[in-house]
Amino acid sequence: MKSFFYFENRWIITATLRMKTALSVGSRASFMPTGSDLPVIKTPEGLPFIPGSSLKGVVRSHIERILRTLKDLGKSYNGEKLWACDPLDEKNRCVTAERKKVLIEQAEGDDQRFTELIWDESCTACRLFGSQWLASRVSFQDAMLANREELLRLTEVRDGVGIDRDLGAAKPKIKYDFETVPPGAAFAVRIIVENADEWEVGLLILALQAMSRGELPIGGKTTRGLGWGELVELQVQRIGPDQLLNYLTGMVQPAKISQQNLLQALFSTLQEGGERHA
Ligand SMILES: [Zn+2]
Repeated sequence: MKSFFYFENRWIITATLRMKTALSVGSRASFMPTGSDLPVIKTPEGLPFIPGSSLKGVVRSHIERILRTLKDLGKSYNGEKLWACDPLDEKNRCVTAERKKVLIEQAEGDDQRFTELIWDESCTACRLFGSQWLASRVSFQDAMLANREELLRLTEVRDGVGIDRDLGAAKPKIKYDFETVPPGAAFAVRIIVENADEWEVGLLILALQAMSRGELPIGGKTTRGLGWGELVELQVQRIGPDQLLNYLTGMVQPAKISQQNLLQALFSTLQEGGERHA
């Protein structure tokens, strides 16, 4: 099991997300009397940003798809099966609320034992990105606007047309406004990974490289062409326990790590033959 109690390593992944099309990351409701129906989420200073949770959602679901494919191909890692549950469906989660109750009883009040039991039954995605019962080892910071001075305006309001869900297309369509960030906006992406193995960071790199190729859209209305961009300047750094003190006191910069080596670590350890034999 990965330690949640000690420092093993920290990975810092940075990149810039350059939007090719307009972006719609909503804040649900406008507090301004003249605001649009669906405003873009902004900092108190009025600058649009992409919430870390939105980026995490996109990266996680891409990695879940990769894990399901690896499982279908019968791949495993060091005898551990690689798989992803459906975190949005209570019945299909790797550890359901019912199962958790059983494990709590088995642990008899020992927190560490309980975490171990949960870990053993959690899928590869929940082990990395967290679940109701496990802390996430990957945190996505809010991605702030990085090129304010290059943009003519920070947001644009567009007209949307909705269809009444109950009445379908038979009734007049519902008009609404929604706000977007114009194409060309760039956002600073920063991801911190704690106590992860090289192959796990390799999984993250696989998803981020798909973003570099412009294959993973962000935010809402992506089927209508919004939210498409490219990740550039992707960089990975690692801090090990031996550099921790110097890093914390600002005496050293963390070492840069080759993405190719991380992918190598992932692929070289993928084995045929699915599940571990006890
Ligand atoms: Zn899971």
